[in-house]
Amino acid sequence: MSAPQRRPDAYYRRIYALFRPIFRAVAYFTYGVRVKRPVSYDEPVLILANHTSDLDFTDVASHIRNHMYFVTSDHVTAMGLFGKYFDRWFNPIKVTKGSSKTGGVIDIMRRLRHGGCVLLFPEGRISHNGRSTDIAPATAKLAKSVRCKVVTFRASGGFFIEPRWQNYLNRGRLFSAGIVNEYSPEELAQMTNEEVLERIRADLYVDAYAEQERYMRPFKFRHGLRDITRYYDVCPHCRSVDTLAVEGEGMTVRCGKCGGGLTMDEFGFFHGCEGVRSCLDWEALQLETYRARFERGEFFDEDGVTLYSVGEGFEHSELARGAFSGTAEGFAIGGELYPFREMSLPEILSGGRRMEFTCGRQSYLIEKENACLNKFVELYKWAKDRDK
Ligand SMILES: [Zn+2]
Repeated sequence: MSAPQRRPDAYYRRIYALFRPIFRAVAYFTYGVRVKRPVSYDEPVLILANHTSDLDFTDVASHIRNHMYFVTSDHVTAMGLFGKYFDRWFNPIKVTKGSSKTGGVIDIMRRLRHGGCVLLFPEGRISHNGRSTDIAPATAKLAKSVRCKVVTFRASGGFFIEPRWQNYLNRGRLFSAGIVNEYSPEELAQMTNEEVLERIRADLYVDAYAEQERYMRPFKFRHGLRDITRYYDVCPHCRSVDTLAVEGEGMTVRCGKCGGGLTMDEFGFFHGCEGVRSCLDWEALQLETYRARFERGEFFDEDGVTLYSVGEGFEHSELARGAFSGTAEGFAIGGELYPFREMSLPEILSGGRRMEFTCGRQSYLIEKENACLNKFVELYKWAKDRDK
């Protein structure tokens, strides 16, 4: 795939101006966000926003009038026709997930120096449990080194519109969205990296369930819990793994082993199992269950998995197909072992059906429809902790 020809900033500003009314309409229909008086900056700004669902850049575009360049992962620009036009019309700053971000950082600085604005979601991934995911210390270094105004933006409630195991949107309204703080370059220069990091983390932090306890706002979960087992596959009653199936209207999952059920209400809270009211509760129990099994030397296998190698521009070629298994040392498929000691943290994609990992200098992708591959990420974390 050849990179599209780059044009002057004015070209992308014009296209963005044409699209901004569409972004505002999307923000209104998807998130219930309508902004009467959007802000305009007469200087380049770096906007740092929290990330709760795929279209949340439209919320930012509704609140801030300026043309902005988006920082996106190269998975987005590799997404077929959509990716191609997104790349051609918006000239996003591309970063590769799981690899060095240096190229992206240089590009961000260059666009700001040319007078543009840049929108970055420093979390990089959306949450599985409703709480913001971690922000890397490199974000604070970047905020200090751009030497321009840094604006923090926070939206909350998006978790219930697109929890991470889905790749479609539920209907509902955000709890809130807006600019949190503006930091001048002088202000940032006086703070240490740690102080800047603490401020950014605090500005962007969201705990979806804690806020929902206050708002109690209903959501229309389009397919209920249909896809939740892509991430949550431990029965909260008997702790069996991979025994849950969706039942009836889709708002209940039931365990094929113990018969225990868990039902979700229109606010996103669970009922039917003592101590499991939110995804946070369920996740804690699930991680505990995985770890206990790993400690006992019980690892997981998955049949019918396809392994691809991932090249430049996210092109992939099939390497193997069959049983995929995890051990304390690494992943195995097609007679090859991919050792953890040569790996960085694997990443879950596409709601849970795909997992990307890097081994040595090569990136790989494994894929299986309706699988819950997350336990392999947890296996990696457990094995790394043990080796410390
Ligand atoms: Zn059970």
